[in-house]
Amino acid sequence: MSLLSVKGLCVKYGASQALFGVDLEVAEGEVVALMGRNGMGKTTTIKAICRMIAASDGEIGFAGQDLRRLPSFRAARLGIGLVPEGRRCFAPLTVRENLIASAQAGDWDLARVAQLFPRLDERADQVAASLSGGEQQMLAIGRALMTNPRLLILDEATEGLAPVVRQEIWTAIARLKAETGLAILVVDKSLRELSGVADRAVVVERGRTVWTGAMGALDADLTDRYLGV
Ligand code: ATP
Repeated sequence: MSLLSVKGLCVKYGASQALFGVDLEVAEGEVVALMGRNGMGKTTTIKAICRMIAASDGEIGFAGQDLRRLPSFRAARLGIGLVPEGRRCFAPLTVRENLIASAQAGDWDLARVAQLFPRLDERADQVAASLSGGEQQMLAIGRALMTNPRLLILDEATEGLAPVVRQEIWTAIARLKAETGLAILVVDKSLRELSGVADRAVVVERGRTVWTGAMGALDADLTDRYLGV
Protein backbone atom coordinates (compact mmCIF):
# COMPACT_ATOMS: atom_id res chain seq x y z
CA MET A 1 0.00 0.00 0.00
CA SER A 2 1.16 3.52 -0.73
CA LEU A 3 2.41 5.75 2.02
CA LEU A 4 1.61 8.82 -0.08
CA SER A 5 -1.14 8.73 -2.65
CA VAL A 6 -1.93 11.86 -4.65
CA LYS A 7 -4.80 11.67 -7.12
CA GLY A 8 -6.08 14.31 -9.53
CA LEU A 9 -4.42 17.11 -7.59
CA CYS A 10 -5.42 20.60 -8.75
CA VAL A 11 -4.03 23.89 -7.44
CA LYS A 12 -4.85 27.48 -8.35
CA TYR A 13 -2.83 30.61 -7.67
CA GLY A 14 -5.69 33.10 -7.61
CA ALA A 15 -7.29 32.99 -11.03
CA SER A 16 -4.45 31.07 -12.65
CA GLN A 17 -4.46 27.31 -12.37
CA ALA A 18 -1.07 25.64 -11.93
CA LEU A 19 -2.01 21.97 -11.44
CA PHE A 20 -4.69 20.20 -13.47
CA GLY A 21 -4.42 16.63 -12.23
CA VAL A 22 -1.22 15.36 -10.68
CA ASP A 23 -1.15 11.67 -9.75
CA LEU A 24 1.70 10.38 -7.67
CA GLU A 25 2.34 7.46 -5.33
CA VAL A 26 5.19 6.77 -2.96
CA ALA A 27 5.32 3.38 -1.23
CA GLU A 28 7.10 2.65 2.05
CA GLY A 29 10.84 2.43 1.46
CA GLU A 30 10.58 3.75 -2.07
CA VAL A 31 12.55 6.59 -3.66
CA VAL A 32 10.49 8.43 -6.27
CA ALA A 33 11.81 11.15 -8.60
CA LEU A 34 9.32 13.90 -9.44
CA MET A 35 10.47 15.24 -12.78
CA GLY A 36 9.52 17.77 -15.43
CA ARG A 37 10.83 20.90 -17.09
CA ASN A 38 10.94 24.25 -15.29
CA GLY A 39 7.55 25.61 -14.31
CA MET A 40 5.68 22.35 -14.93
CA GLY A 41 4.41 22.09 -11.36
CA LYS A 42 6.88 20.16 -9.23
CA THR A 43 7.27 22.67 -6.41
CA THR A 44 3.55 23.43 -6.43
CA THR A 45 2.82 19.70 -6.04
CA ILE A 46 5.19 19.51 -3.07
CA LYS A 47 3.71 22.61 -1.44
CA ALA A 48 0.23 21.16 -1.76
CA ILE A 49 1.33 17.84 -0.21
CA CYS A 50 2.91 19.76 2.68
CA ARG A 51 -0.22 21.87 3.03
CA MET A 52 1.63 25.12 2.39
CA ILE A 53 -0.92 25.92 -0.31
CA ALA A 54 -4.48 24.69 -0.69
CA ALA A 55 -5.52 22.12 -3.25
CA SER A 56 -8.62 23.11 -5.20
CA ASP A 57 -9.42 19.52 -6.12
CA GLY A 58 -8.08 15.99 -5.85
CA GLU A 59 -6.97 13.69 -3.06
CA ILE A 60 -3.85 13.65 -0.90
CA GLY A 61 -3.68 10.48 1.15
CA PHE A 62 -0.84 9.92 3.58
CA ALA A 63 -0.48 6.95 5.92
CA GLY A 64 -4.14 6.18 5.50
CA GLN A 65 -5.33 9.71 6.32
CA ASP A 66 -6.91 12.24 4.01
CA LEU A 67 -4.55 15.22 4.36
CA ARG A 68 -6.95 17.67 2.78
CA ARG A 69 -9.37 17.14 5.63
CA LEU A 70 -6.82 17.71 8.38
CA PRO A 71 -5.82 21.11 9.73
CA SER A 72 -2.24 21.80 8.55
CA PHE A 73 -0.69 21.60 12.03
CA ARG A 74 -2.02 18.02 12.29
CA ALA A 75 -0.77 17.20 8.81
CA ALA A 76 2.70 18.42 9.75
CA ARG A 77 2.83 15.95 12.62
CA LEU A 78 1.88 12.96 10.51
CA GLY A 79 5.44 12.56 9.32
CA ILE A 80 6.33 14.48 6.19
CA GLY A 81 9.79 16.05 6.41
CA LEU A 82 10.34 18.77 3.84
CA VAL A 83 13.68 20.09 2.62
CA PRO A 84 12.35 23.14 0.82
CA GLU A 85 13.72 24.76 -2.29
CA GLY A 86 16.25 27.41 -1.18
CA ARG A 87 17.06 25.61 2.12
CA ARG A 88 15.58 28.06 4.67
CA CYS A 89 17.41 27.46 7.91
CA PHE A 90 17.07 29.84 10.85
CA ALA A 91 20.06 32.06 10.03
CA PRO A 92 20.72 33.57 13.50
CA LEU A 93 20.53 30.20 15.28
CA THR A 94 23.44 27.80 15.58
CA VAL A 95 23.51 24.49 13.75
CA ARG A 96 22.63 22.66 16.95
CA GLU A 97 19.79 25.04 17.75
CA ASN A 98 18.42 24.64 14.22
CA LEU A 99 18.40 20.88 14.62
CA ILE A 100 16.88 20.91 18.10
CA ALA A 101 14.18 23.37 17.05
CA SER A 102 12.65 20.85 14.66
CA ALA A 103 13.12 17.73 16.80
CA GLN A 104 10.28 15.30 17.33
CA ALA A 105 10.50 11.98 19.16
CA GLY A 106 12.00 9.08 17.24
CA ASP A 107 15.24 7.47 16.11
CA TRP A 108 16.74 10.59 14.60
CA ASP A 109 18.64 12.74 17.07
CA LEU A 110 21.73 14.98 17.07
CA ALA A 111 24.12 12.01 17.18
CA ARG A 112 22.53 10.31 14.21
CA VAL A 113 22.51 13.48 12.12
CA ALA A 114 26.19 13.94 13.05
CA GLN A 115 26.90 10.46 11.69
CA LEU A 116 25.25 11.28 8.39
CA PHE A 117 26.85 14.73 8.12
CA PRO A 118 30.05 14.93 10.20
CA ARG A 119 30.57 18.49 8.93
CA LEU A 120 27.46 19.63 10.76
CA ASP A 121 28.84 18.19 13.96
CA GLU A 122 32.10 20.10 13.48
CA ARG A 123 30.08 23.29 13.04
CA ALA A 124 27.49 22.64 15.74
CA ASP A 125 28.11 25.97 17.51
CA GLN A 126 28.33 28.14 14.40
CA VAL A 127 25.32 30.20 13.37
CA ALA A 128 23.58 28.90 10.26
CA ALA A 129 24.23 32.18 8.43
CA SER A 130 27.97 31.48 8.50
CA LEU A 131 27.72 28.09 6.78
CA SER A 132 28.56 27.44 3.13
CA GLY A 133 25.70 26.68 0.76
CA GLY A 134 26.41 22.97 0.91
CA GLU A 135 26.54 22.96 4.69
CA GLN A 136 23.24 24.86 4.84
CA GLN A 137 21.75 22.21 2.60
CA MET A 138 23.03 19.48 4.91
CA LEU A 139 21.48 21.39 7.80
CA ALA A 140 18.16 21.63 5.97
CA ILE A 141 18.21 17.86 5.46
CA GLY A 142 19.25 17.31 9.07
CA ARG A 143 16.37 19.46 10.27
CA ALA A 144 13.89 17.50 8.20
CA LEU A 145 15.27 14.22 9.58
CA MET A 146 15.04 15.52 13.16
CA THR A 147 11.26 15.62 12.70
CA ASN A 148 11.54 11.82 12.33
CA PRO A 149 9.52 11.73 9.13
CA ARG A 150 8.02 8.70 7.41
CA LEU A 151 8.46 10.52 4.11
CA LEU A 152 11.32 12.87 3.24
CA ILE A 153 10.75 15.36 0.43
CA LEU A 154 13.74 17.05 -1.19
CA ASP A 155 13.07 19.98 -3.53
CA GLU A 156 16.18 20.82 -5.59
CA ALA A 157 18.53 19.90 -2.77
CA THR A 158 21.65 20.04 -4.94
CA GLU A 159 20.85 23.22 -6.85
CA GLY A 160 23.62 25.80 -6.95
CA LEU A 161 26.17 23.63 -5.16
CA ALA A 162 29.70 22.76 -6.24
CA PRO A 163 30.07 19.27 -7.78
CA VAL A 164 31.91 17.81 -4.76
CA VAL A 165 29.24 19.04 -2.39
CA ARG A 166 26.47 17.76 -4.66
CA GLN A 167 28.12 14.38 -4.50
CA GLU A 168 28.08 14.49 -0.70
CA ILE A 169 24.34 15.17 -0.76
CA TRP A 170 23.70 12.29 -3.20
CA THR A 171 25.80 10.00 -1.03
CA ALA A 172 23.72 10.97 1.99
CA ILE A 173 20.49 10.26 0.08
CA ALA A 174 21.82 6.87 -1.02
CA ARG A 175 22.77 6.09 2.58
CA LEU A 176 19.32 7.06 3.81
CA LYS A 177 17.83 4.70 1.26
CA ALA A 178 20.13 1.81 2.03
CA GLU A 179 20.41 2.16 5.78
CA THR A 180 16.99 3.40 6.86
CA GLY A 181 14.55 2.48 4.10
CA LEU A 182 12.98 5.91 4.46
CA ALA A 183 10.47 6.79 1.72
CA ILE A 184 11.83 9.70 -0.31
CA LEU A 185 10.32 12.00 -2.92
CA VAL A 186 13.02 13.92 -4.73
CA VAL A 187 13.00 16.77 -7.24
CA ASP A 188 16.30 17.43 -8.97
CA LYS A 189 17.66 18.38 -12.36
CA SER A 190 20.44 15.81 -12.42
CA LEU A 191 19.07 12.86 -14.33
CA ARG A 192 22.21 10.82 -13.94
CA GLU A 193 22.29 11.07 -10.16
CA LEU A 194 18.55 10.50 -9.91
CA SER A 195 18.92 7.34 -12.00
CA GLY A 196 21.36 6.01 -9.44
CA VAL A 197 19.02 6.40 -6.48
CA ALA A 198 15.37 6.54 -7.59
CA ASP A 199 13.20 3.44 -7.99
CA ARG A 200 10.48 5.17 -9.96
CA ALA A 201 9.89 8.40 -11.82
CA VAL A 202 6.78 10.54 -12.11
CA VAL A 203 6.89 13.13 -14.88
CA VAL A 204 4.69 16.23 -14.86
CA GLU A 205 4.00 18.49 -17.79
CA ARG A 206 1.88 21.64 -17.57
CA GLY A 207 0.46 20.62 -14.23
CA ARG A 208 -0.44 17.03 -15.11
CA THR A 209 1.19 13.68 -14.61
CA VAL A 210 2.09 12.48 -18.09
CA TRP A 211 4.33 9.50 -17.38
CA THR A 212 5.03 7.13 -14.48
CA GLY A 213 7.30 4.14 -14.50
CA ALA A 214 10.46 2.48 -13.31
CA MET A 215 13.42 4.88 -13.31
CA GLY A 216 15.26 2.50 -15.63
CA ALA A 217 12.43 2.70 -18.17
CA LEU A 218 12.93 6.43 -18.65
CA ASP A 219 14.88 6.05 -21.88
CA ALA A 220 16.43 8.64 -24.19
CA ASP A 221 13.20 9.16 -26.16
CA LEU A 222 11.13 9.86 -23.05
CA THR A 223 13.84 12.04 -21.57
CA ASP A 224 13.96 14.03 -24.77
CA ARG A 225 10.21 14.40 -24.94
CA TYR A 226 9.54 15.34 -21.34
CA LEU A 227 12.78 16.77 -20.00
CA GLY A 228 14.73 18.05 -22.98
CA VAL A 229 15.07 21.76 -23.67
P1 ATP B 1 10.92 24.96 -11.24
O1 ATP B 1 11.76 23.77 -11.54
O2 ATP B 1 11.22 26.13 -12.14
O3 ATP B 1 10.85 25.33 -9.80
P2 ATP B 1 8.33 23.68 -11.02
O4 ATP B 1 8.10 22.49 -11.89
O5 ATP B 1 8.65 23.46 -9.61
O6 ATP B 1 9.45 24.56 -11.72
P3 ATP B 1 6.21 25.37 -10.10
O7 ATP B 1 7.12 26.27 -9.34
O8 ATP B 1 5.40 24.41 -9.35
O9 ATP B 1 7.05 24.57 -11.19
O10 ATP B 1 5.27 26.25 -11.03
C1 ATP B 1 4.16 25.73 -11.72
C2 ATP B 1 3.36 26.88 -12.35
O11 ATP B 1 2.76 27.67 -11.34
C3 ATP B 1 4.21 27.82 -13.17
O12 ATP B 1 3.47 28.20 -14.31
C4 ATP B 1 4.44 28.98 -12.25
O13 ATP B 1 4.62 30.16 -12.99
C5 ATP B 1 3.17 29.02 -11.45
N1 ATP B 1 3.40 29.55 -10.10
C6 ATP B 1 4.25 29.08 -9.18
N2 ATP B 1 4.19 29.79 -8.03
C7 ATP B 1 3.26 30.76 -8.24
C8 ATP B 1 2.73 31.82 -7.44
N3 ATP B 1 3.16 32.03 -6.18
N4 ATP B 1 1.79 32.61 -8.02
C9 ATP B 1 1.37 32.40 -9.28
N5 ATP B 1 1.81 31.42 -10.06
C10 ATP B 1 2.74 30.61 -9.56
